[in-house]
Amino acid sequence: MNKNRQITIEINAENARHECNITDYGFKDIFEASEKLGYRTIRYPIGAEAFLGFALIRDSERIVFSNSSLILSREIFSVAHEIGHHRLHLNEQGITLIKDDDFTERDELEVEANYFAACLLMPMEKIEKFIRLELKDKDIASWDGLDIARIQTAFNVSYDMTLIRLKALSILNDAIIEKLKNDKIEKTASKLLSVIGGSTKLCKASEVKKVPTEYLEWVITNYNEKLIPKKTLAAALNYVDLCPSDVNITDSLDEEEDSIDDLLRGMD
Ligand SMILES: [Zn+2]
Repeated sequence: MNKNRQITIEINAENARHECNITDYGFKDIFEASEKLGYRTIRYPIGAEAFLGFALIRDSERIVFSNSSLILSREIFSVAHEIGHHRLHLNEQGITLIKDDDFTERDELEVEANYFAACLLMPMEKIEKFIRLELKDKDIASWDGLDIARIQTAFNVSYDMTLIRLKALSILNDAIIEKLKNDKIEKTASKLLSVIGGSTKLCKASEVKKVPTEYLEWVITNYNEKLIPKKTLAAALNYVDLCPSDVNITDSLDEEEDSIDDLLRGMD
């Protein structure tokens, strides 16, 4: 990624914060923000070993999906990353789907989405402000795990992401990073957060199931119009602990017509 592209992405992320009226250090609720930016945001616990999320354009609707089996701070990063794919890479005429099994930077699009997420969640000037006003410009050499946990709480990000970002911005050097990693291993981020009264929720999976009613209506309509088979309807409803008999459907006698790829099933 060259300097110009970096700046373009930074501006894009800054605009996104602006569109969501974020004046605080971090996002209080990235999921709500994602909706505000125009993305239908679906959260579902598909298992800690499953994929992390995807960005998708479907029938002119833009969808962000995140796996809520991940610990919350990682899920937050995941949503920021998918928003990045939407704003930087997807369009109706080109790529309409990017699915993330992991966030290793296997290609330029992944590098860019990670960079976008970092700029969105932890803008440089906000970190500098936090260090100045909240950490009182404390000497870097004397930072410990609690300082990282405080930053983590203010920005709603993971301990590891905080370290990665501080290193990328050259605020911390390798030696300090190593020390702070050890600090974390000794005490674990969760304990550090409880010591400072931070949100220990960040270290747990939320397992939230948030599927918009419009999506369910869309699945039911497709079933009623015979576009998807009953098993696909059942699978989709199962995501929110419902079954076909719980909803208003027109049952037909013909079984199992050709189905279009179901939104979630199609991602397996
Ligand atoms: Zn990605």
